[in-house]
Amino acid sequence: MAIQKYDYLIVGSGLFGAVFAHEAKKAGKTCLVIDKRKHAGGNVYCREVEGINVHEYGAHIFHTNDKEIWDYVNQFAEFNRYTNSPIANFRGELYNLPFNMNTFYALWKTKTPDEAKKKIEEQIAGLNITEPKNLEEQALKLVGKDIYEKLIKHYTEKQWGRKATELPAFIIKRLPVRFTYDNNYFNDKYQGIPIGGYNKIIDGLLEGIEVRLECDFFEQRDELSALADKIVFTGKIDEFYNFQFGELEYRGLRFETEVLDRENYQGNAVVNYTDSEPAYTRIIEHKHFEFGTQPKTVITREYPLTAAKGSEPYYPVNDEKNSELVKRYLELAKAETNVIFGGRLAEYKYYDMHQVIGSALVKVRRELGR
Ligand code: FAD
Ligand code: UDP
Repeated sequence: MAIQKYDYLIVGSGLFGAVFAHEAKKAGKTCLVIDKRKHAGGNVYCREVEGINVHEYGAHIFHTNDKEIWDYVNQFAEFNRYTNSPIANFRGELYNLPFNMNTFYALWKTKTPDEAKKKIEEQIAGLNITEPKNLEEQALKLVGKDIYEKLIKHYTEKQWGRKATELPAFIIKRLPVRFTYDNNYFNDKYQGIPIGGYNKIIDGLLEGIEVRLECDFFEQRDELSALADKIVFTGKIDEFYNFQFGELEYRGLRFETEVLDRENYQGNAVVNYTDSEPAYTRIIEHKHFEFGTQPKTVITREYPLTAAKGSEPYYPVNDEKNSELVKRYLELAKAETNVIFGGRLAEYKYYDMHQVIGSALVKVRRELGR
């Protein structure tokens, strides 16, 4: 029997792989999607527990400013009106995030934007930070010493396992600083959680496409590669090249999930623990993403850890050493003619979902000549 040959072998069924496969199929191409996990969807996968969609790989809130990407995901699921407004718990004191007039009031009792700005200016006077060289300097420049000490330094150091002075400034610029009483964690125009969970989007993207689960590319690299004209690779780029220049570092996570026999545990989907203790960074109460009214609740504590070989790599660590190393791998990738690299692991980028979708759309359209 002749072996079926596909146009594309897509390694990884996360958002990058699924969007690529969907668009390629629409253009009449044949795709085989493989994933080493037991399910499709990568890190956006949800598992239903007690009627609640549990974000199995960490809380996922969709947000974008790009109407095209918003319309794109809305083809597959309707979105609810969830707005992320995390609470920070520092030694039992509660503060609103992101940093805004509510946070400033709770800390300093400042009531107007001018008072808050003045307070921050007082706190950074004398530090002489013009061009912030690292996360600590960037954070101090944005919000001053008190917020840095209570809400940023320890959370960041436990999340990344290194000093805030050794981390790039851009990480903290993900969070807005606002002089309005607005607790919305994102500035984007569009935000929400897909009604019915993220699996609905993945199922829609992969409809009619062959997917092989529990299939690790590296265990049958030659046989799998022979099945298609081209490979779309969304796994770890250093692994693709057999770690020949050394290993890229990833930050890992351990999720501790519990079903509680009560209706409401913490009153909010996300509560961050911003001191160095406890060892977890945040507790997620999943039902609140969808305004759930189930009699029980499910919570997850997120413990950051160093991702050892073989464990799930969650966050690329974009410090100097890794940024230099990835450049060498990306050079090799650029020279490939039959492999397309994309997504958080293959590009080694701290991408959010909308950015992965945007990147997949650009790459698949370029590939299809559209
Ligand atoms: P992934 O989802 O990682 O998919 C890659 C897939 O490839 C995986 O399924 C993996 O099993 C498979 N794979 C890897 N290697 C192999 C192999 N050798 N063989 C076969 N299969 C393989 N974004 C937001 O927009 N909002 C959020 O609130 C948000 N929260 C996040 C919270 C956490 C804790 C994390 C870790 C990420 C968060 N993100 C969030 C980012 C979001 O998860 C990613 O942008 C997106 O899911 C990445 O999609 P991807 O396809 O690049 O990668
Ligand atoms: N951060 C912080 N305190 C918080 C929340 C975030 O210092 O309470 C910092 C921390 O360095 C983190 C970064 O801001 O890594 C980005 O936060 P975000 O919530 O975007 O992280 P993610 O959801 O991707 O883990």
